Amino acid sequence: MPINASENIWFNGKLIPWNDAKLHVMSHVVNYGSCVFEGMRCYQTEKGPAVFRLRDHIQRLMDSAKIYRMDTHYTVDELINATLDLVVANKVSPCYIRPIILRGYGTVGVDPTGSPIDVYIANYEWGKFLGGGDEGIDVCVSSWNRLAPNTMPTMSKAGANYMNSQLIRMEALSNGYSEGIALDVTGYVSEGPGENIFLVHKERLYTPPLANSVLPGITRNTVLHIAQDLGIPIHEQAIPRELLYLAEEVFFSGTAAEITSIRSVDKIPVGNGNPGTVTRAIRSEFYAIANGKTDDRHAWLTPVPMKQPVAV
Ligand code: PMP
Repeated sequence: MPINASENIWFNGKLIPWNDAKLHVMSHVVNYGSCVFEGMRCYQTEKGPAVFRLRDHIQRLMDSAKIYRMDTHYTVDELINATLDLVVANKVSPCYIRPIILRGYGTVGVDPTGSPIDVYIANYEWGKFLGGGDEGIDVCVSSWNRLAPNTMPTMSKAGANYMNSQLIRMEALSNGYSEGIALDVTGYVSEGPGENIFLVHKERLYTPPLANSVLPGITRNTVLHIAQDLGIPIHEQAIPRELLYLAEEVFFSGTAAEITSIRSVDKIPVGNGNPGTVTRAIRSEFYAIANGKTDDRHAWLTPVPMKQPVAV
């Protein structure tokens, strides 16, 4: 997907021109993949731009960094304010926001402790991700597993984890599918390369627990709250592969994917092949909240204090 460049990037406390956000090839991150990052969305509501679950994303960024002992010296509040300052300065909404904490240029070798920790935040225009529209997407089970426990920590949204995601996605695309679902090493359903997964079976909602090597998705948590609000029974439990074929409904959740219905898995139609009632109910509530069309009862939107109308 091509990037629509914005004007500025936030770098270690100041705004710099987009094209000046460059790295040395001998930076630690380039050689060893040492970075953690976030992806969040700013929606365009009737009351103006608002970032969806900003605090939760920045908290997860800090959690990801903590796992890798990357101390930024910034607080959650400082990075929240930095994100808002950037969106205001770049005047792009709706947009995608990408904060990154990385180990920069300093020393060579796997030991990361001598390399500086740099923080960047970028934002740019972005629309739909997985496509599929209302009819849903066709997915396969990948031949690649998700990261095994105690190898790469899946609770950390680390750049290096996405080497695994790339294999899953490339395999799916080359076989003509929109996306691949990875199993964990024990053979239970884990998640997509950039999305969490939900199943509806006998009017109950299922999603794998964190112990099945999933990223603790912010949208996953959003879906669980919405399902609870709608009175849908929820089970966070290990899911055998074959339940993907028996479920009446299957969908992905993620910041980029939002709520994306899955209409077939390994060419087996899910239910009657159309998005089911639970998926549709959760999706419409999700969009109503994100787009500011219903009460933000969980305080998930952070308004962006724009000084002037934005170009959309
Ligand atoms: N799993 C992986 C591997 C991801 O990259 C993402 C996207 N961040 C998700 C799940 C969904 O997480 P979120 O809802 O926080 O975007």
